[in-house]
Amino acid sequence: MTGACAHIIAVGSELLTASRIDTNSLAVTERLNAIGMAIAAKLVVGDDRKQIAAAMHDSLDHADLVVVTGGLGPTDDDVTREAAAAVFGVPLQEDATILEGIRRRFASRGLEMPEINRRQAMVPEGAEVLSNPRGTAPGLWIEEGLRRLLLLPGPPQEMQPMLDAWAARHGERLGGGMHIVRRVLKVANVSESHVEEMAQPVYARWRESGVPLSVTILAAPGQIELHLTATAASAKEADAALDPAVDDLVEALHGHVFTTRGETLEAVVGRLLLESGSTIALAESCTGGLLASRLTDIPGSSAYVLGGVVAYSNALKIDLLGVPAALIDEHGAVSEPVAVAMADGVKARSRASLGVGITGIAGPGGGSSAKPVGTVAIALSTPEGAKVRMQIFRGDRHQIKFGATQAALDDIRRLFVRAAAQ
Ligand code: ATP
Ligand code: MG
Repeated sequence: MTGACAHIIAVGSELLTASRIDTNSLAVTERLNAIGMAIAAKLVVGDDRKQIAAAMHDSLDHADLVVVTGGLGPTDDDVTREAAAAVFGVPLQEDATILEGIRRRFASRGLEMPEINRRQAMVPEGAEVLSNPRGTAPGLWIEEGLRRLLLLPGPPQEMQPMLDAWAARHGERLGGGMHIVRRVLKVANVSESHVEEMAQPVYARWRESGVPLSVTILAAPGQIELHLTATAASAKEADAALDPAVDDLVEALHGHVFTTRGETLEAVVGRLLLESGSTIALAESCTGGLLASRLTDIPGSSAYVLGGVVAYSNALKIDLLGVPAALIDEHGAVSEPVAVAMADGVKARSRASLGVGITGIAGPGGGSSAKPVGTVAIALSTPEGAKVRMQIFRGDRHQIKFGATQAALDDIRRLFVRAAAQ
C-alpha cells in the first residue's frame, strides 16, 4: 500500500529574495513523512493573492493534502486567508472567539488590540480553527471531499506546534496508516565515490527485505550523508527493518560513520570527550578559531573545552605556544613538526588531556608547488604521544578552513573509537 502525497506552498515575497530561505517546508516534510505522507512538490509564492490562489488551486487538484505556511498575519500583504476563501468559493466570516483571544493576548501585555488585527479573526466558512498558543494568527483547516488545505502561520516557532497538533488529530487517517522513518548516517573526510563503493554491496541485500528501504547519498560540506528510509505500517516495523540495515552499512563503511542519528561531528566529539572525562585545548592557525567555535557550539562544552589560541603569526606560535623558532625556520610554519609543537604547546600550557594543532594554507595566495593552497597539517597531542598528518583540502578559503576542522574533529573521534576497540 502506498501512502498519500502532499504539496507544500511557502508564502512570502521575502522567500523569493536572496535574503531569506524557506525552512518551514523542511519541518513540514519531516512531520508529514512521519505520518506516511510523501511530498510530491513544493513551491514558494510571493504575497500576491492571485498567485497564491492559483498555486492552491493547482495543488489541490494534484495532491491529497496541501499545506500552506505564511501570510496569515494582520498586515495588508498577508492574503493567504483571502486566497483560500476564493479557491473554495466561500465567504470569510469574523469569528468572535478568535477575536476575543487576540484581544486577550494584547491585554495580557497591557495593550489594546490594533484594529488591523481584526483580519486574523476572519475565517473561511466551514474551516476548522487551529489555535496558536505562541502568536495571534490562528491556523485553518479546510476539508471538502478530497480537497484538503492546511494553513499555518509563517513564523517557525508558531508553525511547528500547530502542525504537531494537527498531525495528532488528522495524521493517522490521512497518512493511510503508513509510517516513513528516516535514519541519517554521516561520514567525514571520505569522498562520495568511496562511500558509494563501500556501501553498494549492502544495498543488494535489502531487496529481500519485506519493508521497502531506500537510500539517498548527499554530499554536504566536509561530509557525506546517507539517508535511509523505510516505509511500513507502523514505526516499530520500520525500525525493525532499519536497525539491521544501519548495522550493515556501519560495518561496510569500516568505522567511517560518525553518527547514525543525524548528529553533527562536533556533537559526537563533544559526547566522546565528556564521557571519557577528557579535556581539550586548541592551537589554530589557518582555521582562525573555527575549531574552537564549532566545539563550543555544543551546549555543556565548558565541561571539556579548556580554550584555544589563534596563533596566526610565527611570533605568536613561538611566544604563546612555545614552538621553537628553529623548527619554523627549518620546516616552515605549515609542516608536521610545527603542528605537533603547537599541539604539544597548548596541551602543556593548558594542562588539557588533549591538544590540537592546525597549521595550513587557506589561500587563495601563499601556495607553492611543494605546499599548494589547501595544504594543512593536523596534529593531536595525547597522553600517549603525538599523531600528525598532512592533507590537501580543496575549495575556496572557507571550504578549506571548514574541511580542516572537519578532519581534525574526525581524527579526535577516531582516537576514542580506537581506544574503545582495544
Ligand atoms: P505574522 O503574524 O508574523 O505576519 P504570517 O503568517 O503572516 O505571520 P509571514 O508574515 O509570512 O507569516 O512570516 C513571518 C515571518 O516568519 C517571516 O518574516 C519569516 O521570518 C518567517 N517565515 C515565514 N515563512 C517562512 C518559511 N517558509 N520558512 C522560514 N521562515 C518563514
Ligand atoms: Mg505576515
